[in-house]
Amino acid sequence: MSEKDQHHIENNPEFQGLKVNNGIVQPEPVSNDSVKRFLQKKRKLHSADEYVAGILKGDITLLSKAVTLVESSKTEHQNLAQEIITKCLPHSGKSIRIGITGVPGVGKSTFIEAFGKYITNRGHKLAVLAIDPSSERTKGSILGDKTRMEELSGDSNAYIRPSPSAGSLGGVARKTRETIILCEAAGFNHILIETVGVGQSETAVHSMTDFFLLLMLAGAGDELQGIKRGIMEMADLIAINKADGNNVEKAQMAQVQYRNAIHLFPKKESDWDPGVLTCSAFHKIGIDAIWEQVEKYKKQTVENDYFYKKRNEQSTYWMHETIEEHLKRNFYDNPEIKEKLKILENYVLTDRMSSFIAAGELLDLYSKLK
Ligand code: GDP
Repeated sequence: MSEKDQHHIENNPEFQGLKVNNGIVQPEPVSNDSVKRFLQKKRKLHSADEYVAGILKGDITLLSKAVTLVESSKTEHQNLAQEIITKCLPHSGKSIRIGITGVPGVGKSTFIEAFGKYITNRGHKLAVLAIDPSSERTKGSILGDKTRMEELSGDSNAYIRPSPSAGSLGGVARKTRETIILCEAAGFNHILIETVGVGQSETAVHSMTDFFLLLMLAGAGDELQGIKRGIMEMADLIAINKADGNNVEKAQMAQVQYRNAIHLFPKKESDWDPGVLTCSAFHKIGIDAIWEQVEKYKKQTVENDYFYKKRNEQSTYWMHETIEEHLKRNFYDNPEIKEKLKILENYVLTDRMSSFIAAGELLDLYSKLK
């Protein structure tokens, strides 16, 4: 033992063979200033043209950074994001956008993995996005847990982006819609958008997709599956998942029932007859038949022009949505409105003022503020 060594009992002769070294002196912690400088350098924003050039080349890192700007609420980021989107817009649109919904546990992730691999195996580029306004990452939000799509996450032709974090449905949906534009400009010609089939988010997904797929389970009543009739009416295809093992027969029975049920719905403007199929996402059975339906749908609606008509309608819908969202935020974030709102809310609650007069006064105040 060298003299320099501190005394460690383990270094005594009876413990021969064992040598305990002195600890290593820890380096000085990095000063706050250099950390700041490092982070600033890391966070340095590119110019809109740099992002756009990268996106058009299919650079995933720049695409992801641009999507982060889209999701950011900072004004500086939003302005840059809007410039990027505007420049990407002429390069977008050349895709098929497919919405996928179904209650938690129906097998959406498993299906997207199987369906997604089927698509990329055919040489296509696939982006998987999600709309989940209620999500808190810790609660296992949809797509948040990438391990659920292991094969697809490792596929260089697939890009998976979880839902923008919780916010108003309008806000979350707008961000997803803008992300579609960026993904398409980056060459992703197939877009899957997942949502949980329990609330209004499927209306939002429906308003940004060409084809709407509803996943269902056999043997569970509609109430149990939380699927509203309106959502079934939106579907271009219903697929009864988990049609494997001793569930096959039940799935086939459900298929007949759903076929009868959707027959009663009014004819779709697209002139498309929505079908009911069975599949097993887990065993990758029936995936090809679903794909065939998507292709057939695209062909038919492109031929009868509905495909483009729907997209145009969606564009104007999103214009109005964005205006409404902006106006609302502007109104409710205004400090004078906030203050008066509290007072008038109290008046309304104590029957001192009617809701309509209170609303009128607030709107009056707002118009004077402008
Ligand atoms: P999600 O919540 O809708 O995304 O559902 P998941 O994809 O996470 O699937 C929920 C559970 O159902 C998982 O345990 C899956 O392994 C299982 N599952 C999904 N698809 C099938 C299927 O086709 N057959 C069977 N037997 N199980 C499936």
